[in-house]
Amino acid sequence: MPSEILKQALKTHFGFDTFRPHQEDIIEHILEGGHALVIMPTGGGKSICYQLPALLKDGFALVISPLISLMNDQVRSMKTNGIVAGAIHSGTSASESKQILQQMDSEQLKILYVSPEKALSSRFIEFVANKNISLIAIDEAHCVSIWGNDFRPEYAKLQGLIQYFPETSIIALTATADKATQEDICQQLKLRSPKTYLSSFERPNIYLAAKPGIQRLDQIKAFIRRQDGQAGIVYCLARKTTETIAQALRKTGYRAEAYHAEIDNGQRKKIQEDFQYDRIQIVCATIAFGMGIDKPNIRWIIHYNLPKNIENYYQEIGRAGRDGQPAEALMFYSFRDVSVYRDFIEKSEANATFSRVQSEKLDRIWEYSQATNCRTNVILNYFGEYRAAPCGHCDHCLHPPEGFDGTRIAQMALSACKRCNETVGIGMLVDVLRGSGRKEIYERNLQSVKTYGAGKDISWKDWMHYITQLINQGLLDIDYINHSVLICTPLSDEVLFEHKVVILHRPADLLEEPVKLKEPKRELFNKELIQRLLNLCKKIGREEGIPPYSVFPKGTIKEMAEVRPLTVGEFTELNGVGEYKAEKYGQSFVEAIRAYMTDQDIIKKPKGMTYVETLDLFHQGLSLEAIAQKREMAVSTIATHLARLYEKGEDIDLVQYLHPDDLSIARQGWRASGFSTQMSKVKEQVGDSLNYTRLHLALAIVRRDEKRGA
Ligand code: ADP
Ligand code: ZN
Repeated sequence: MPSEILKQALKTHFGFDTFRPHQEDIIEHILEGGHALVIMPTGGGKSICYQLPALLKDGFALVISPLISLMNDQVRSMKTNGIVAGAIHSGTSASESKQILQQMDSEQLKILYVSPEKALSSRFIEFVANKNISLIAIDEAHCVSIWGNDFRPEYAKLQGLIQYFPETSIIALTATADKATQEDICQQLKLRSPKTYLSSFERPNIYLAAKPGIQRLDQIKAFIRRQDGQAGIVYCLARKTTETIAQALRKTGYRAEAYHAEIDNGQRKKIQEDFQYDRIQIVCATIAFGMGIDKPNIRWIIHYNLPKNIENYYQEIGRAGRDGQPAEALMFYSFRDVSVYRDFIEKSEANATFSRVQSEKLDRIWEYSQATNCRTNVILNYFGEYRAAPCGHCDHCLHPPEGFDGTRIAQMALSACKRCNETVGIGMLVDVLRGSGRKEIYERNLQSVKTYGAGKDISWKDWMHYITQLINQGLLDIDYINHSVLICTPLSDEVLFEHKVVILHRPADLLEEPVKLKEPKRELFNKELIQRLLNLCKKIGREEGIPPYSVFPKGTIKEMAEVRPLTVGEFTELNGVGEYKAEKYGQSFVEAIRAYMTDQDIIKKPKGMTYVETLDLFHQGLSLEAIAQKREMAVSTIATHLARLYEKGEDIDLVQYLHPDDLSIARQGWRASGFSTQMSKVKEQVGDSLNYTRLHLALAIVRRDEKRGA
């Protein structure tokens, strides 16, 4: 199918102007009847890869998906784009099923989501066997494989359904599959010479940062304050922590809830829904939260504790910024977390190999937390996507840690460790170095150690930081088996006795956190207008019983605020607005934008509406004279309207009204007038070579070019 037609269909149904990497190739391959395995990170845009072919082909597509909430969300989003879709799972009511059947019979249905259990039932198979199935999509395809992160036995049986459709194209999609899992998916589903499409795992819109877990609550509060009321999740290891944090945040005035295994089902469902619909801003949760959540506008994720491994970490932060807009992930780490995990692993009944793998994975996430190079690269390398170029969206790329000669600091710490006979943990060692008067110190007679108080000029939290670095550099180690005391290593002696130089990094100021991620476009748009448009989404969402982001996602709202369409025609042109939504919502949004512009004096009151009226007529294709006649105004007045609108950034072709030399005459006249803002001064300079109408129009172009620095 020609590329132009695919692009047109993308715009019509989904409102997007361009395909993301791989999407178009995948869609073509599916339209040709091929089999495909698609590995794309969360938020990469997998759905369109099967939704668009489904719309272009006869019949309807079967989409197998493991999570009911995800299915419902997809169906809802299809519907807001005017596409007929349904879902069959354990929660589907009889009347819903009946409606789906009718839509199938009348050939309106384009996409049917099915849970694997239903898809495998003989009733269902019998039922669809003689239907016109356009393609079969298997979402979360890693569930097919025991090598994957989330094996589901019923998924492994899907071949039982597929075999009835030997001619149908099959597309398996997942966001997480290493090499072994990829191969296994193709085998389990018996894909016919499948093409594999592997996208980069980088999430360029997520800012990554990690910090030591000191004064965490204060840091969290400062972080959330910067988030301007936007939704986020605080992941915690322990149930108790979720409650403590949620309570502390509520006290500060945030809408926050705790979410963990012991909360009953009803309450859990309510929290999920309130979060989805932006009725609560923050969920403090153990890792179970987020599995069934398909909320594209989660703006930030905090890990209160070190995550268990890099896979989990990446999956959890991957829930942020699914709409492609900037998001932030902040992780705290501490030795305590590591000890807790080590305990888990040691006490678990799992076999030795499994425990060893867990323990190694723990080492890797710890190394990640301590890395001094680009964090994204540590992750990509972990997943086998080797890269060395800095990512530009992590703490280390934006604020490279400052290195200095820390040999003396290292010597103090190592010597204190030795002199305490390697019997103290980190906290106690710092107390010794800082000369603390704590009772335990005296009980253990540590005040008589030679280095007692030698490091009192360094703050407690800086010491914690430096000791962490010494451990990472292999100069100190933690004896996890023996109460996590600090011990020296074979490398320690080189520092103590052989003058080996140790480079340390200064801890960044914990509370100060300047994050400036590149916005996809320059921030020309106005915050208040965005807020008004978001409120309108909320209002419409409430009326229609859908989440606000289903009306329009944040990216489209920003685009609206930047482009400021004043007619429905212009509105349809926006990236992210398809025909269906333009027709349904266009008028309301255009009105909101006009109201804003009038209020803000962007187009002056009471003249505001007069500008808009001129613009409307202009967009209807009327000539200057015709507009003037219709509005009973002078042609030169209409010209001032258009000139003003043009200078404000409206996309108006003014050149059509000018003669070839007008621009240079206007430019020279303006310069000769000393760049005067008074039109009469400029007119004096140009004399009769330009009338007022053409001078207004030509000057608008000259000035806007000037502003752009052209
Ligand atoms: P995934 O299933 O891979 O996690 P989705 O299919 O839900 O991701 O898409 C994530 C977001 O990206 C959605 O908001 C979707 O509308 C948007 N999106 C997908 N394709 C495009 C595109 N070509 N242009 C702009 N936005 C897109
Ligand atoms: Zn980086």
